[in-house]
Amino acid sequence: MIDYYTIIEELKNIKTIENVEEIKKLSQDYYYFSPILIPILQNKQADLVVIPTNEEEVLKIAQICIKYKIPLTIRGAGTGNYGQCIPLNGGIVLDMTEMKKIHWIKSGVACVDAGIKISLLERETKKQGWELRMIPSTYKIATLGGFIGGGSGGIGSINYGQLRDRGNLNKVRVVTLEKEPRIIELFGDETQQVNHAYGTNGIITQLEIPLAPAYNWVDVIVTFDNFISALKFGQALADSDGITKKLISIHAQPIANYFIALKSYLPNGENCALLSMAEISLYPLQELVKEYQGKITYQQDLSKNSNINLIEFTWNHTTFHARNIDSNITYLQTFFFTIDKVEKMYNYFGDEVMIHLEFLRVGGKAIPAGLQLVKFTTEKRLNEIIKYHEENGMFIANPHTYILEDGGRKNIDIEQLNFKKKVDPYGLMNQGKMKAWKNN
Ligand code: FAD
Repeated sequence: MIDYYTIIEELKNIKTIENVEEIKKLSQDYYYFSPILIPILQNKQADLVVIPTNEEEVLKIAQICIKYKIPLTIRGAGTGNYGQCIPLNGGIVLDMTEMKKIHWIKSGVACVDAGIKISLLERETKKQGWELRMIPSTYKIATLGGFIGGGSGGIGSINYGQLRDRGNLNKVRVVTLEKEPRIIELFGDETQQVNHAYGTNGIITQLEIPLAPAYNWVDVIVTFDNFISALKFGQALADSDGITKKLISIHAQPIANYFIALKSYLPNGENCALLSMAEISLYPLQELVKEYQGKITYQQDLSKNSNINLIEFTWNHTTFHARNIDSNITYLQTFFFTIDKVEKMYNYFGDEVMIHLEFLRVGGKAIPAGLQLVKFTTEKRLNEIIKYHEENGMFIANPHTYILEDGGRKNIDIEQLNFKKKVDPYGLMNQGKMKAWKNN
């Protein structure tokens, strides 16, 4: 039995949270988008939350975890969707949000502490004409370390692919949980060892991330009489190399009915495209919209403050809005690869699986990926839906599991496993999340 009073004493001046209600809050994320994860994760809770402000404090915490063999789960803003930062066996939740220093921004690269909020980082990079290559729709509160640890891509992925793609992360500094904790630096491909590893194999304290040139982005809503036109328009815009955009989010009717704040632009839940366009590309966009018989119902006026932020209706925010109206709705994450597969699933499932697409670049090609909304009935039916997609050549990154390998990647990542053997030999980090470790 670990005596947490002793631990708090040993932590000396490092901030801790002992209040049970606060610990409960800081032990949760957005796992409840999945009806499958709710019964498994809802009562899981840490014993103590520790909030470091710098790398030295992280090292000290790591030493104490080793000394007392305390399970450690890292938390950014806790916006993950699969219970990634929920501690399965109690122990310490390491809240990284006070580690938020910007070390430098220069020549299209930023070096920052892992706990910095993505929105705060972008506010600074934009002063120098740069922005992040991709951001999650939770960018206002999510941390960069959490995005790397648990995210995949987002607004900007139509240009730069996913976080896992070579070149999207330059360098990380990682605190280990070895017998004698230390700091390791990983460069280029080496960063894949901790990239999207759910914090199972090292505490990322600092990152160097390449940036993209910043544009004046304009939110635009386009409606279509039928879904297939919206789908084809999405692919055509994604393939239009001369048109600068960073978001192509396509929604089949009746999804827009869940977007209450957009009601005046989508009064009947129309099939629609939610776009973020460079101001310089608005004219060619209008021409493309005309070609596909769409109608622009909203275009942001950059000279005025707008209380609409279209980003917050896309990616998994779509699920968020739908669930606010119907909590029975859950979702899937699907690589369709081609629009004919989307059309097939649209015709086959109808309203049971409502099509929400985000276009992104994979292996150099723009493809439709789905975050479809599913009217949940039973686990058996959900699995049938997943199976049908897979049997028809689509790849599902299952959002209804907290196990790293069963979600996105499907395979055991030997590199990540070997790195865990090296840096977390006692298996203290985010216990129960890496299947390969359990089977080892
Ligand atoms: P957390 O949820 O706190 O952590 C995520 C994982 O990273 C955990 O396993 C944690 O242990 C690990 N981790 C955190 N910090 C570190 C660190 N310093 N070192 C090592 N491991 C660490 N995701 C997307 O990719 N794209 C989207 O567009 C998107 N949209 C979303 C919309 C909604 C409404 C919601 C609820 C979620 C969405 N997500 C999306 C998921 C999530 O918001 C993002 O991935 C986000 O970037 C996670 O950041 P966070 O700080 O909240 O991380």
